[in-house]
Amino acid sequence: MRNPFRRSVEQALDASRTALASDLIAALGEQNVLWRAEDLIGYEYDATIDRRRPDAVVFPSTTEQVSAAIVIANAFGVPIVPRGSGTGLAGGAVPIMGGVVVVLTRMNRIVEIDPRDRVAVIQPGVINLRLQDECAKYGLLYAPDPSSQRICTIGGNIATNSGGPHTLAHGSTVNHVLGIEVVLPDGRVTYLGSRVPDAPGIDLRGVFVGSEGTLGIVTSITVRLQRQPEAVRTMLAIFESIEIASEAVSAIISGGVIPVALEMLDQEIIRAVEPRLHVGYPLDAGAVLLIEVEGLRESVEADAQYVVTACREMGAREVRTAESEAERARLWEGRKGGIGAIGAISPNFYILDGVVPRTQLPKVMAEVMRLSAEAGFRCANIFHAGDGNLHPNIMFDELVPGATQKVLDLGGAIMRLCVDSGGSITGEHGVGLEKRSYMEWIFSAADLEAQQRIRDAWGTGERFNPCKILPTGHGCGAGHEAEIRQHLATPGVYV
Ligand SMILES: Cc1cc2nc3c(=O)[nH]c(=O)nc-3n(C[C@H](O)[C@H](O)[C@H](O)COP(=O)(O)OP(=O)(O)OC[C@H]3O[C@@H](n4cnc5c(N)ncnc54)[C@H](O)[C@@H]3O)c2cc1C
Repeated sequence: MRNPFRRSVEQALDASRTALASDLIAALGEQNVLWRAEDLIGYEYDATIDRRRPDAVVFPSTTEQVSAAIVIANAFGVPIVPRGSGTGLAGGAVPIMGGVVVVLTRMNRIVEIDPRDRVAVIQPGVINLRLQDECAKYGLLYAPDPSSQRICTIGGNIATNSGGPHTLAHGSTVNHVLGIEVVLPDGRVTYLGSRVPDAPGIDLRGVFVGSEGTLGIVTSITVRLQRQPEAVRTMLAIFESIEIASEAVSAIISGGVIPVALEMLDQEIIRAVEPRLHVGYPLDAGAVLLIEVEGLRESVEADAQYVVTACREMGAREVRTAESEAERARLWEGRKGGIGAIGAISPNFYILDGVVPRTQLPKVMAEVMRLSAEAGFRCANIFHAGDGNLHPNIMFDELVPGATQKVLDLGGAIMRLCVDSGGSITGEHGVGLEKRSYMEWIFSAADLEAQQRIRDAWGTGERFNPCKILPTGHGCGAGHEAEIRQHLATPGVYV
């Protein structure tokens, strides 16, 4: 027999959810609110492992609607979770305590591209590649180019301070954001930074970029643009092993030439990509480096020659240079489609993100492969080698009992390896939900308290994207696995 107390709690929760949904519908319109269980499933997760169903999902089209949604969620005492395209790889957009997910993809207007001041003003739901394509029409470049750029939003890029292949030379997202309009956790609207560089006062724009949706919701963005380079050279250097290729990475950079991109793909990735995308990667290579130099025509030729020589000296068996724009695009197609291709060879895979000093790459990569083999998993590597930013992809089948936990444990061991090698637990994907419990490996109690104080000062409270970044928080527990188990077992949490 069902416990009558539990039934009355469930009825009360349903009544509360219904009231929440009707207030959201009254403010945003029926077409902009999802609340039926079957409609909410798609918003349980991002691109990683953790998941939890929200109580409602809203799709605002204006800053005022974002503000209204926040005020209503606050009145009901439920969490608020900002979300772009959901390609995040740290669980940042997962509503782990339920509540209202605010999806920004309908705020997708490019408001202005000003070629003279070299700025663009855009809404947060603009897709990264669309902005790049539009800027290219003016001979301009928005440099940050995460490999997910065909689908991720600029709002998500700001929240995670995204990197990408070309941020080796151009810097990550924070270096390209001038100003942002933000709806604060109490629903008020503020502007951080300005349209011109170096706004006076405390750099709250800098604090916000990379805060992973824990300090508010970005609703308008002014970014810095730069001229497209006069010349570009793209090369594919082919190596017998990932360790030799890793040695070459440091050798190239220590010689004084900083390529704009220096990417590594190992044999597993090549064998996943090549039969599907036919981009011309050699199937028998241990690893390849995709290297790009850009700038003025004369200097680019000299830099490219230097890279070819350095790779050969470090043991490359061949270095190919793209001779046309089409060839260059093909080489990049393999890089940008590399992670997707793993989906064709494995039922599930877990993408890790760590960073180490470049010089540690040969040792760390050998150890990553050893740890993976020891745990019984295949591991494919595709990463921003120039930044020392590794992305081991652990392949597994979640239907095999215990496999997911083993993969999470292996992920923890690889993160520990990065920290012990002088690196850190994330290079670009953020901490999110997934890596909160590792924060104590790199920060002291005082460091973490300083970060918590920023959240407190911002008025974030316990309900604005809860359980993200910091290792502890009201109702969040300290350990990520225990917390997920607890919340998966609970139907809707109103705090
Ligand atoms: C195949 C693949 C390749 C990837 N390659 C890269 C890469 O090269 N470099 C890289 O850095 N990342 C990469 N990522 C990770 C991911 O694409 C980025 O983190 C991206 O910035 C997330 O954008 P999104 O729109 O999907 O955001 P979501 O996943 O929806 O959200 C990410 C975080 O941003 C917050 N957020 C979203 N929108 C807003 C907003 N408007 N205001 C406030 N907070 C907001 C969310 O709360 C969450 O914490 C990759 C992911 C995949 C699946």
